[in-house]
Amino acid sequence: MVKFLDLYSQYKTIKPEIDNAINSVISKSAYIGGEYVSKFETEFASYQGVKYCVGVGNGTDALEIAIESLELPAGSEIIVPANSFIASAEAVTRTGHKVVFCDCDPRDYTISIDDLKRNISSNTSAIMAVHLYGHPCDMDALLDIAKRNNLKIIEDCAQAHGAEYKGRLVGGIGDVGAFSFYPGKNLGAFGDGGAITINDNKLALRCRKIANHGRTEKYNHEFEGRNSRLDGLQAAILSVKLKCLDEWTARRIAIAEEYSEKLKDCDDVVLPYQNRDVKHVYHLYVIRALKRDALKKYLEKKDIQIGIHYPIALPKLNAYQYLEQNTTHFFACKNDQYQLSLPMGSHLSGANVAFVSDMICDF
Ligand SMILES: *Cc1c(COP(=O)(O)O)cnc(C)c1O
Repeated sequence: MVKFLDLYSQYKTIKPEIDNAINSVISKSAYIGGEYVSKFETEFASYQGVKYCVGVGNGTDALEIAIESLELPAGSEIIVPANSFIASAEAVTRTGHKVVFCDCDPRDYTISIDDLKRNISSNTSAIMAVHLYGHPCDMDALLDIAKRNNLKIIEDCAQAHGAEYKGRLVGGIGDVGAFSFYPGKNLGAFGDGGAITINDNKLALRCRKIANHGRTEKYNHEFEGRNSRLDGLQAAILSVKLKCLDEWTARRIAIAEEYSEKLKDCDDVVLPYQNRDVKHVYHLYVIRALKRDALKKYLEKKDIQIGIHYPIALPKLNAYQYLEQNTTHFFACKNDQYQLSLPMGSHLSGANVAFVSDMICDF
């Protein structure tokens, strides 16, 4: 069996450190807030090259709180790429803004710069830059568009821990970054977790207050916020795992290169494209296959686990029919039937990668 993801095998490689971290949190009862959370926030800010990191309950909350902190005009439009996880769009609606979808780039699948320009209106206030699959968006183009149109940029970095655009780490290029530590992400906790990365101290403080009932001191609340916390156990686990992230990312990149080398002569398969300006961290290795569903079945019969990210483009979901936006011409809305995610992660051996590639070529 070739697993799509194998969290237990990853745990086994760092079991003593993780067990020790969990025991320390328990012995100090540092469950909410406390030293482990502050320590991880400092470490993660330093890793991502930003001034501040605010730990929160999950990646979706990170997006919501990030948007809320920007204090954009109520009901204003935020442009969201059509190919993403629903959280990228949900956070927009949940914070009282309007989702406007734009197409994705047919090569790297991140937000299409041309289509983004077409969708800017006088009501647009921000852009949701999703570094999808671990491939950074074209940030120079986004920064230029944002500057000309007075728009904010929220970076959805849920799939892009450690990814770089022209040598700069994602999460600190736009106005605010949002990370997820969902277990299956490149840096994953043992439950839910998330973080906001930010360089502006006022925004950072605002995010912290929103995530903590609008308070500055224990019972002094400046405004109504909410409760969204990264907990002590998750923070301690993440501190251990952060030390391994570069090694795991290097392995992901090596696996991606092996796949690309072995699949390059395979007909009817389009390989992931990597812009020369970026460090792609391959949260997912996504190919395009003409007979995707049949290929998926074939691979599953060979005991290979396969994923689809995402089988229904966001504008086609029932959840967004109310928008009545015409997106039928979007590349993203057609490509959802061709994309296929191959097993990825440091649990894979060279033999696993060769087997998966051979089976795809056989098909
Ligand atoms: C996982 C993910 C999120 C949401 O993160 P959670 O921690 O699951 O809330 C948001 N955006 C993208 C692109 C994701 O992949």
